[in-house]
Amino acid sequence: MKDNLYIVIIGCGRLGAYLANQLSRDGNSVVIVDKNKNAFDHLSPEFSGFRVDGDATQMAVLKDIDFKKTDILIATVHEDNINLMVTQVARKIFAVPHVMARLFDPGKKEIYARLGIDIICVTTVIAGVFLQDVTDKSFSLESP
Ligand code: AMP
Repeated sequence: MKDNLYIVIIGCGRLGAYLANQLSRDGNSVVIVDKNKNAFDHLSPEFSGFRVDGDATQMAVLKDIDFKKTDILIATVHEDNINLMVTQVARKIFAVPHVMARLFDPGKKEIYARLGIDIICVTTVIAGVFLQDVTDKSFSLESP
């Protein structure tokens, strides 16, 4: 197992910044990309990685990233199609070994799986947590 990974994160919103802060704190080399400079304010002062200011759907921006070194790319933006596009480019053109994407629409799971993209479908993950909580609470309720 490699103890220092080179990880590229697309999107420095709440999720991307949380992952970047944590993964950087754990000793990994993190590169975070966002098209809105102000988004980097979400990073903690201790973040020791690199910031790339630009649109990740643009080849000129992606070319600034050292994909030869990249172990994992994680796409966290709000739009499923952008995450799909960037992860596909990273996988097919730059041969990044592991690509992961945040997904909202559970209906697109199959497409991602066929393309070799690992997905975290936030809708199904959160639904699972709610359903488990409903089940847990039902045990504490008395039948009439
Ligand atoms: P959130 O909406 O909090 O999940 O954050 C999503 C982040 O992704 C925002 O900071 C956006 O500026 C960023 N973002 C959205 N689309 C792109 C893109 N094509 N390239 C780079 N960053 C993006």
